[in-house]
Amino acid sequence: GLQKKNSVQKVESVKWSDIGGLEEVKSMLEESVIWIYKRIDSFRHLGIKPSNGVLLYGPPGTGKTLLAKAVATESSANFIPVSIPDLIKGEVGESEKAIANIFKMARRCSPCIIFLDELEAMFGSKESSGSFGQKIMSQLLLELDALDSVDQGVVVLAATNNPRAIDPSLVRPGRIDRLIYIKPPSLSERISILQMQNVKTKFSKNINLKEIAEKTENFTGADLKALVQRAAFLRFKKYRAREQQLNSDVECNIDQTDLLEALSKFS
Ligand code: ATP
Repeated sequence: GLQKKNSVQKVESVKWSDIGGLEEVKSMLEESVIWIYKRIDSFRHLGIKPSNGVLLYGPPGTGKTLLAKAVATESSANFIPVSIPDLIKGEVGESEKAIANIFKMARRCSPCIIFLDELEAMFGSKESSGSFGQKIMSQLLLELDALDSVDQGVVVLAATNNPRAIDPSLVRPGRIDRLIYIKPPSLSERISILQMQNVKTKFSKNINLKEIAEKTENFTGADLKALVQRAAFLRFKKYRAREQQLNSDVECNIDQTDLLEALSKFS
């Protein structure tokens, strides 16, 4: 059941360079989390008490999960992903036990990052309300209060699309007390996210990604990725229609019209 799911994972390693834009966020995470692992002796020497937990908040698809994985990679830390909606679905007693186990496991395989995804699910739902919800919450608070990032080499990262749903007691000093807003990408960030897609797919040489970035003002990273996927599929269909063989032709790359067509169908 839960114990098995919330286990240490060898993350397919996401690096800082796999994330477009978000430079400021990266350096905040570098200082607030990665330094704990990289500079642990200096931190101990100077008695620095960094945060035990960081909350990444912002709209869906802006790269919060990606950032958490990259923090683990860049810290050479183990990674325990925890889906809060799955966690609170457990039987009475099971969810609290699962939380205790997650923290125990994290201490055992430190350096370790615990990633609590969709943290807002702790609050406001049928599962999370009442005495059952309270028991889960108090177990989590108990674990957070017992956490010492420098001594134990364990840091909690959490993500939410809805920070207003989060109970203030969870983000009190000493708990998940560092809050970082993950914005939708700016124009130049959209350009770099689009450019990044060129690793897994192929753009034609004269593509104008700036034009696409200008037309995708409210797009998140996830939206941009989906857009390029659609353009790739349109390209594939055009080639299939002409019964030309893929890979045999240099021109079999996504061009500007594919992207614009994909964009016109995007809602
Ligand atoms: P949710 O709140 O829906 O879980 P999220 O903020 O955790 O979303 P991710 O799951 O990290 O978002 O992002 C979804 C996908 O979108 C990623 O796997 C990645 O492919 C792409 N993506 C999002 N943001 C970026 C970015 N800044 N650079 C590169 N790719 C991105």
